[in-house]
Amino acid sequence: MKKQNVAVFGSTGSIGVSTLDVLARHAGRFEVFALTAATRVEEMLAQCARFAPRYAVMTDAAAARSLADKVKAEGLRTQVLSGDAALSEIAAHEDVDVVMAAIVGAAGLPPALAAAHAGKRLLLANKEALVVGGEFFMRAVRAGGATLLPIDSEHSAIFQSLPEDPATWEVRVDKLILTASGGPFRTRDPATLREVTPEQACAHPNWSMGRKISVDSATMMNKALEVIEARHLFGLQPERIEVVIHPQSVIHSMVQYRDHSVVAQLGTPDMRVPIAYGLSWPERMASGAAALDFHKLAAMTFEPLDAPGHSQRFPGIHLAWAALRGPEGSTAVLNAANEIAVAAFLARRIRYDQIHAVNFSALEGITPRLSASAPPASVEDLLALDALARSMAEQSVQRLSLQAA
Ligand code: NAD
Ligand code: MG
Repeated sequence: MKKQNVAVFGSTGSIGVSTLDVLARHAGRFEVFALTAATRVEEMLAQCARFAPRYAVMTDAAAARSLADKVKAEGLRTQVLSGDAALSEIAAHEDVDVVMAAIVGAAGLPPALAAAHAGKRLLLANKEALVVGGEFFMRAVRAGGATLLPIDSEHSAIFQSLPEDPATWEVRVDKLILTASGGPFRTRDPATLREVTPEQACAHPNWSMGRKISVDSATMMNKALEVIEARHLFGLQPERIEVVIHPQSVIHSMVQYRDHSVVAQLGTPDMRVPIAYGLSWPERMASGAAALDFHKLAAMTFEPLDAPGHSQRFPGIHLAWAALRGPEGSTAVLNAANEIAVAAFLARRIRYDQIHAVNFSALEGITPRLSASAPPASVEDLLALDALARSMAEQSVQRLSLQAA
């Protein structure tokens, strides 16, 4: 069998590194064709030395120059490219079979769309791309004939629990149940959330991840983005998507059928499982993850979103359904505001409990201006909306940080 050429976008990140770990276990089946990152030159150099990709893209120009020098000095054959445009060129490159979209944030939308248009096998970890792109993104996937496979553990779990034929989902399925760990502050006194530091917010109890998604897991905005992601991936109405808190992260998500039979996918919390599934689907291959030990599994517990204190701890989760009820583009607004709010919190410009205020006011301020009859029709439309929401959120951040000063 011919080897599959894989391009890993965001290769220096948490998902990127896990993807390379899985690929290294199956070197006879996959070839690392291209790697991309933003600024981390040393990590990228080490990856180039180990995997000998044909291309390495650094979106940051100075980082690209530095990498090119080092690649040359070490006598490596990798060609170094620079800038955002190179990302989309690689995603659509005729020799690429598989694209792992693992850039964080809306910055990953253009290359993911390019892969969709070019009909690639598209492994989507970058949930923000789908939250921003919405139905526009899904249309590009269909028009390009791409194979879209979810990498987010919840969506991989649902995909594994659904019947093979998507045409049957609408009639057979009652609802999708996404599990949420509840993050590091599930039992914390909500009155003390204003004191939360970036370090505390990034210390997730079950998963080791990048900083942005770690903060999103603490606020549960991550679950809000995942509800939106599920709506687009699986085509069910938002009312048929539910969230239940399951602190052990053993059940990764579930499908409840019409007869009230529930099918769930379980495993240790290790992203190499959904990554290996995306790479090998519809087959299965080794992932490197440990097997679940049911004898050591003390208990699996569940709590509802409206358990005492959770509406103060996790106000953002409800914005998912609010944005999905709004005109197309509302979810792009929510995502952009949240990216600004999280970055401002990580930079200590706003407090943890103010993230929600920034998101809420961007959604409230912009959604009424969107037209249901003229949905975003191009990537330029989407990026313009993204930019508008970012500037509005940035104004909220400035107001809040001035008040604090
Ligand atoms: P990370 O911060 O560890 O890595 C992000 C990667 O994207 C890095 O390689 C970085 O160089 C690159 N990048 C960042 N900004 C960029 C930009 N503007 N342009 C180009 N490249 C840029 O993030 P992560 O935890 O690996 O998450 C990646 C994506 O996968 C996110 O969308 C996240 O929500 C999703 N995801 C992650 C996990 C997880 O366990 N980490 C689980 C599910 C979904
Ligand atoms: Mg997830």
